[in-house]
Amino acid sequence: MKVLVLGGGVIGTTSAYFLAKQGHDVTVVERQENVALETSHANAGQVSYAYSSPWAAPGIPLKAIKWLLSKHSPLVINPMMNAETIKFAYRMLKNCNHNSYNINKGRMLRISNYAKECLREIERDTDIEYDQRKKGFLQVLRTNKQVADTQKDIAVLEQFGTEYKVLDVEGCLEAEPGLKHVKDKIAGGLQFEGDATGNCLKFTNELQKKCLELGVSFEFNITVESLLVDNRKISAVKTNKGEMTADNFVVAMGSYSAQLLRPIGIDIPVYPVKGYSITVPVLSDEDAPQSTVMDETYKVAITRLGNNVRAAGTAELTGYNLSLREKSRATVRHSVESLFPHAADMSDDQFWTGLRPMTPDGTPVIGKTPFTNLFINTGHGTLGWTMSTGSGKLIADIVSGNETAISLDGLEMSRYPYANKVT
Ligand SMILES: Cc1cc2nc3c(=O)[nH]c(=O)nc-3n(C[C@H](O)[C@H](O)[C@H](O)COP(=O)(O)OP(=O)(O)OC[C@H]3O[C@@H](n4cnc5c(N)ncnc54)[C@H](O)[C@@H]3O)c2cc1C
Repeated sequence: MKVLVLGGGVIGTTSAYFLAKQGHDVTVVERQENVALETSHANAGQVSYAYSSPWAAPGIPLKAIKWLLSKHSPLVINPMMNAETIKFAYRMLKNCNHNSYNINKGRMLRISNYAKECLREIERDTDIEYDQRKKGFLQVLRTNKQVADTQKDIAVLEQFGTEYKVLDVEGCLEAEPGLKHVKDKIAGGLQFEGDATGNCLKFTNELQKKCLELGVSFEFNITVESLLVDNRKISAVKTNKGEMTADNFVVAMGSYSAQLLRPIGIDIPVYPVKGYSITVPVLSDEDAPQSTVMDETYKVAITRLGNNVRAAGTAELTGYNLSLREKSRATVRHSVESLFPHAADMSDDQFWTGLRPMTPDGTPVIGKTPFTNLFINTGHGTLGWTMSTGSGKLIADIVSGNETAISLDGLEMSRYPYANKVT
């Protein structure tokens, strides 16, 4: 079967890989000149299965107000909110309760844990190198209140059978010796030893090479404009370079997926939540993070990627605007400088922004649509790199009509009662 994958980020590329492995004739259509040049380009690099949690959690509305008043706020809201932003914020608030949180977390963990298996499969089948490190993930708590508050998180971790370790200050230093210079700033930590880190851009580029070996075509510099419908089927995609046809179509255009789907009556709530990262060269290995450290105070993830430190954070609700906000750069820099003061050459930071394709419930949208040959693989929000391999294999099985290895319950667009407007 001929399959067109629309979008060549980490999600489109993993989808193409598994589709090709299942014997399909796959073409990836991408508007940039290569894969992973948008949101998958410079994310925080955490491959955090155990840390998979929705942002919409009980207590977040109150925290959000406090954050908005702080100097280094992890949350930024453009006061000129448009209707789409208001709708997204409202839907997210509706998920900030215990019941929704538990349901959403369970769904995210299901796909993340599957992704871990699928990444192992890729590593087994290829010799792929992507600055991977399997040294866990450390959430650094700076205050005793944060340590006390983790009791609620621990209850949820226990409920989902997630392995974790509560660390005192010495334990944090043992896990991440680079923190030794700021011992007095730390109150404790929560560690997930099974988590990993890796460079999403390198991974996607390396996987693209494997895709080429499997016969996948990549059509770059082509912008998908619309989907052409014929009697509950997609007959072609209209692009800036003409129409392209296939038997099946997979939408993997990240934050732009909703815009493509809306005109044909599919209204999935995927909203672009902007984030920022800096990448700085390591000065001293022993003073740098060895894996991913999450600075709970500023919600900045600081990761070791080869000879660089990558730090990323900020959730900004400002639509599709890609301007670089200096205040967010200052927040991310502040987090790195205060936890790893001797790790990196901060005079040489590469500043980047990307739009997380977020859903209000934190769970991606993977699966069938009301059109028989149209499939969706998007909405991976904060953890698309982590979930990419599982999502790619899942969509390949769905397109092929195979039984899926994990349940699709709560992953498909049908969980949103308003999403299907196809007449
Ligand atoms: C600051 C930040 C930090 C993050 N940190 C992490 C992390 O540590 N771990 C983690 O797991 N996740 C992280 N994420 C999330 C992760 O990066 C995303 O979920 C993931 O990259 C989404 O991948 P995607 O392929 O869906 O989107 P994208 O990478 O954006 O891919 C979509 C592709 O579609 C193409 N496209 C769009 N419109 C069109 C069109 N009309 N025609 C043709 N092509 C089109 C785009 O060019 C793009 O290449 C982070 C995100 C941000 C912003």
